[in-house]
Amino acid sequence: MNEKYIVLKLSYTFNEMEQLVFPVVLLGTDDIVLVDCGYPGSLNQLEEQLRYHDVEPSILTKIVLTHQDDDHIGAAAEMKEKYPKIQIFASHIEEPYLSGKAKNLRLQQAEEMQKLLPEDQKAWGEQFCDRFRSLQPLKIDGKLYSGDVFDWGGGCEIIETPGHTPGHISIRSLNNEFLITGDAGVLEGNQLIIANPEYSLNIGDAKKSLEKILSYNSDRYICYHGGILKE
Ligand SMILES: [Zn+2]
Repeated sequence: MNEKYIVLKLSYTFNEMEQLVFPVVLLGTDDIVLVDCGYPGSLNQLEEQLRYHDVEPSILTKIVLTHQDDDHIGAAAEMKEKYPKIQIFASHIEEPYLSGKAKNLRLQQAEEMQKLLPEDQKAWGEQFCDRFRSLQPLKIDGKLYSGDVFDWGGGCEIIETPGHTPGHISIRSLNNEFLITGDAGVLEGNQLIIANPEYSLNIGDAKKSLEKILSYNSDRYICYHGGILKE
């Protein structure tokens, strides 16, 4: 295991459509860090992917969550239960929503939208809300701030990329070898774009965040949705 980082691939099938997501493992001197971890129920798939890349799940020391959406935090509770030594880190702004002190913002948004949905979509809307209502609160062991620097992945920095959610973070390597976008940028047709604009909690901020991550001219953008964009 000499690499600085490993990109994992998790696969889900919704309505007969395959959806892939790409969590990342960052290797540090004392830490092995998983960045985002798939939908709830992903524990087995995550373990398989880690082992496929010669990472024994029990050696993970931290999980970093880019934001509070269920496709990113889903397996964190399951991982923590099975591997209690893992510490969970997230933005200081996302922490109250992740820990259950405040109501998940996506759920708040969905409940507001539910009132406006046409009758024939209400059942789908209710299902969406239930997905978020069933998320387990997570104890956040460490709060992350913009500019925090770690030796993970050969040296990296936490950057604030709000918009999709207010406390959304991305992670850039200090020498611009890679940038983990989270949902600040998704890869579509060889281009970085804003993730589902209708889900952006602040579209103006989301646009600025996309510009910000592009301004680093990173060699590789690792997008949770869409995979890797190479220079
Ligand atoms: Zn997402």
